[in-house]
Amino acid sequence: MESRRLIYLDNNSTTPCDPRVVETMVPYFFEKHGNAASRSHQFGWEAEDAVDYAREQISKLIGADEKEIIFTSGATESNNLALKGVFEMYAKKGNHIITLETEHKAILDACKYLEKHGAEVTYLKVEEDGLIDTAKLEAAIKPNTVLVSVMWANNETGVIQPMREIAQICEKHGVLFHSDATQAVGKIITHPREIGIHLMSFTAHKMYGPKGVGALYVSRKNPRVKVTAQMDGGGHERGMRSGTLNVPGIVGFGKAAEIAMQEMASDAARLSKLRDHLETELSKMEETKVNGNVNSRMPHVCNISFKHVEGEGLMMTFNQNVAVSSGSACTSASLEPSYVLVAMGLGDDLAHSSIRFSLGRFTTEKEVDDAIELVRNGVNHMRELSPIWEMYKDGVDLTKIEWSAH
Ligand SMILES: *Cc1c(COP(=O)(O)O)cnc(C)c1O
Repeated sequence: MESRRLIYLDNNSTTPCDPRVVETMVPYFFEKHGNAASRSHQFGWEAEDAVDYAREQISKLIGADEKEIIFTSGATESNNLALKGVFEMYAKKGNHIITLETEHKAILDACKYLEKHGAEVTYLKVEEDGLIDTAKLEAAIKPNTVLVSVMWANNETGVIQPMREIAQICEKHGVLFHSDATQAVGKIITHPREIGIHLMSFTAHKMYGPKGVGALYVSRKNPRVKVTAQMDGGGHERGMRSGTLNVPGIVGFGKAAEIAMQEMASDAARLSKLRDHLETELSKMEETKVNGNVNSRMPHVCNISFKHVEGEGLMMTFNQNVAVSSGSACTSASLEPSYVLVAMGLGDDLAHSSIRFSLGRFTTEKEVDDAIELVRNGVNHMRELSPIWEMYKDGVDLTKIEWSAH
């Protein structure tokens, strides 16, 4: 009997490379191995042409000018370059940055670093559905505010922030607007110039491209934005990011962008149907809760809490067959509940019992059906073993219980 393939529903962590992407990359490891900065021979010219072409493919995907794309090693670096680079470049204008509690660690930790270096940072709360209240954002802007950084779509819940409204507020107050759009680019339309975003981070490996290559969009006109380089060296990428370009990676990134442009709409339509099916079926189980605003959400993501079940334990019941992420243990071996879900007001118990399902281009209907069954069995199994579930079924009000003191 053919063994069952492990079902991958963790595409928000990383996506597999599209075979068409790998194919275009291969020559750049071998016969076209040049350094894009070598100006004196064919190898260099070929590499430079390939990078130029990828820059064009990527700029088309996001409705930008080629010169507005700065290649980096990924979204972590792009976020660091955007925040630290703007903070340094615009130091004379002010030192206040506004961001969200639900941002990715690459934003939050860069902000913490900046706080040690003279920045004042406001971490805005989100509402229970994960969306920000734009009135609260506007109220947080002060005369010394230089930057607002708000992610386009959340990696844990898929919740999409009201980018246009945020941009309008930033425009009104003359504040720069950065977005970590890593989870949105290539999956929904993300045109920073059209929206009014001045800097935008994204990465190839979340859109079926290779790992280790990303980009920062930096607006070149109205306004012309500059960031202080965070690495000193040869002055590549218009002086904003030194270092020999990852030519094969960039070529793959370009191809991934081209495919995304062609297939985004059909992928989204197919995946939202599969996601809705998964969510509907799992929500039929008792005591479940879908986390995040379902009307402003990425088409391939669903985050569900299975009450009275511990997410990590639940995952163990099916992780031989289905790969997902749980709302705990995101970092290292700690069993801390997801700070994103906690920021949305979920209690520790609900945050701990949550599972994130993120579908992708290569997810099939059969895989979703199999996953539904495996997860359902896992939840039932965990609940059968759980004294808390038994108490709940016996009608005990769990909120009234006095657990013994530690
Ligand atoms: C994955 C991710 C990152 C980090 O991207 P890398 O390219 O792996 O550094 C940053 N922000 C968000 C929202 C992400 O999902």
